[in-house]
Amino acid sequence: MIETIRALEAASRVLDPDAAERARLRAAFEPLTEGFLGRARTMKAFVDEPERAFEVDVHPIAAEGRPIESIVELLENAVVTPSAQPASPGHVAYFTGGGLYHGALADFASAITNKYTGIYFPGPGEVRIENQVVRWIADLVGYPAEAGGAVLSGGSIAILTAVVAAREAAGLRAADIPSAVVYLTAQTHHALGKALRVAGLSEAQLRIIPIDERYRMRPDALAEAIATDRAQGLRPWLITATAGTTEVGAVDPLAAIADIAEREHCWFHVDAAYGGFFLLTEHGRAMMRGIERSDSVILDPHKGLFAAWGVGVVLTRDATTLTTAMRDTGPYLQDTGHADVLSPADVSPELTRPFRALRLWLPLAHLGTRPFVAALEEKLELARYFYTRVQELGFEVGPEPDLGVIVFRWPADSADADDLEKANAINQRLRDQLLADGRIFLSTTMLDGRFTLRIAPLSFRTHLDTVDLVLDVLDELTAPLRR
Ligand SMILES: *Cc1c(COP(=O)(O)O)cnc(C)c1O
Repeated sequence: MIETIRALEAASRVLDPDAAERARLRAAFEPLTEGFLGRARTMKAFVDEPERAFEVDVHPIAAEGRPIESIVELLENAVVTPSAQPASPGHVAYFTGGGLYHGALADFASAITNKYTGIYFPGPGEVRIENQVVRWIADLVGYPAEAGGAVLSGGSIAILTAVVAAREAAGLRAADIPSAVVYLTAQTHHALGKALRVAGLSEAQLRIIPIDERYRMRPDALAEAIATDRAQGLRPWLITATAGTTEVGAVDPLAAIADIAEREHCWFHVDAAYGGFFLLTEHGRAMMRGIERSDSVILDPHKGLFAAWGVGVVLTRDATTLTTAMRDTGPYLQDTGHADVLSPADVSPELTRPFRALRLWLPLAHLGTRPFVAALEEKLELARYFYTRVQELGFEVGPEPDLGVIVFRWPADSADADDLEKANAINQRLRDQLLADGRIFLSTTMLDGRFTLRIAPLSFRTHLDTVDLVLDVLDELTAPLRR
């Protein structure tokens, strides 16, 4: 028996490499990470070669491993190279923060030490860091001392958590769901609908509140919809506003909506996944006035705090709404004590979880908040700059940006259906040409029935030279249209 155990021990020893082997592994990875960072500022934002990824399927996982060098080569070719490059400055599609290097070091350290961050007892230092980050964001939002929250994997899971807290706070039971009403707009992110479904609330009533010409929720229309629903014996429950919509970056009038939510005793949720960290800027604070009166809010540090993918924050103005919905325990946890410090497991659906807050805390602790403020102010200025300059190229633009999203399109000659169709085709062709070119990567949407181009400079690597490049590329591609 002892012999068998020893043999198994020997066979599994490679799971714990020694110092020399660790150095060799790090050196083998260096070309990938340092090579990537060396070209990050100048690389293409889109490489239209998805067939490179097929190589992944050529190598199934097997009993025998493969040399690290060949694996690094595979990652370079099949994973790092093809398609979108969110770490490139020219990636101005959707919302990308770029992925801070300091955060990568934090991930490296937390994966190596593998400290437990679900509960305070085994990980007091980790949980205090999680809570310090949550508190810093709560202060940014303007929430009181009783607020609570958690660093989750992204905005969608954060919204789901907020929806469940709102459901429990209202005491909604199965029989109540068909008469419960949710208020949103056509600009609301689809993650809300998904969250309602996952939370067992797909039978709730949805009211799409009309928006104004700047794509913001109309408070008068909201008040009217609530009154109508009450008159019909329904139960207005959840009002969701957005602080920076995905499509156009619009910020709903939060203070006016907060007035209505208070008066009507509705749960007021704000989706600030994109816009939230602009609270670090004076303009952002003015735009989002009233956010502090919400019952819950979500923010995505993997957007506005430039973190790598995988961090979204949920906050509630009163932490007990989260603990009521989420706190639980089992007999096997009897040794974990009852600290008066809130643990991530008390306020979220997770128990065991990665040390996510370190990815935010380390860059903030080391660099301070100042460079983050500067970068976000820079993005707002870049959006205004682009908004003006793109019109000089002959493009038609949407409303002046509330935050940092600009929508624009090549204009139609007239409002006739034929001309609109023609313009849609031109804009679609521009999108295809941009993808094939690859220097910049933007996204598109159908806005008011028209094919529309959209950029949202947000990465910490996206500066004036990038925005000028976007303008240059657009200038080149539209030259034939201007004749
Ligand atoms: C990105 C985004 C979401 C979804 O967040 P994920 O982190 O992608 O899950 C929700 N709402 C808004 C406004 C967003 O911008």
